[in-house]
Amino acid sequence: MTPGREYFAARGLRGKTSVPTVLSLNDVHKSFGGIEVLRGVSLEAGDGDVVAIIGSSGSGKSTMLRCIPLLEMPDSGEIAVAGETIAMRETRHGRRAADDAQVQRVRGRLGFVFQSFNLWSHMTILENVIEAPIHVHKRQRAECIAEAEALLDKVGIVEKRNAYPAELSGGQQQRAAIARALATHPRALLFDEPTSALDPELVGEVLLVIRALAEEGRTMLIVTHEMNFARDVSNRAVFLHQGRIEEEGPPEQVFEQPVSERCRQFLTSHLARRG
Ligand code: ADP
Ligand code: MG
Repeated sequence: MTPGREYFAARGLRGKTSVPTVLSLNDVHKSFGGIEVLRGVSLEAGDGDVVAIIGSSGSGKSTMLRCIPLLEMPDSGEIAVAGETIAMRETRHGRRAADDAQVQRVRGRLGFVFQSFNLWSHMTILENVIEAPIHVHKRQRAECIAEAEALLDKVGIVEKRNAYPAELSGGQQQRAAIARALATHPRALLFDEPTSALDPELVGEVLLVIRALAEEGRTMLIVTHEMNFARDVSNRAVFLHQGRIEEEGPPEQVFEQPVSERCRQFLTSHLARRG
């Protein structure tokens, strides 16, 4: 059940050397309608880090992920991706990105996988995967197709390349969404509850794919309620509570010996609920 123990130990060691920072949030605040949903969140992910993000519903996990590509504009604080701090400016109407081209560039360096697979329903699986590489990244069609087929093979659904999303199971659609996220060669992958919309029997196949990506050394932030998976796959875990990072550390600490009483309670109630 724990195939990668040595590998995680190696990651732990590597964490102590200087790995380049791929993602960082520095003191990010965000309110909606006067309610502060993120209350000063700071987080860094170095190259190859797999950060598990846990917390109750409403604690701000999705908002935190969405702030990274500025799908939500933070009210204050800084975001940096691959060494580039996103420039923002204050206007009469609030904070805005200072440079739209920069935002597009930064978004192009990230891959997203959401709970609701978000595939384009009118396109085949292959077309879904090649869309951004061809139209956003302006790469050669033939090369994109070859690469997309390799990615679909990697996630185990290459035989579905000419099918439409509705013809696939939820697990297959989510694997297609992962292939699509990989097709733009992202520097980091952001997963927001990638298995929450799936029937229980389909969760495992998606987690296997994500685990394989972790073992390849990809940089990932993963919001999940799959606690066993989160503990095994991550080299760092973060517990968010009411818009603040309440506990952070190696997964052995956060999942097994949390310092925070709230984190302990969250884990207990979560495990109890899951049975
Ligand atoms: P989580 O992902 O941890 O469940 P969210 O980040 O989705 O939490 O939400 C945190 C809080 O922010 C919730 O109370 C939610 O209702 C609120 N919220 C999130 N997005 C919006 C929005 N676009 N407008 C208003 N409120 C929002
Ligand atoms: Mg959420």
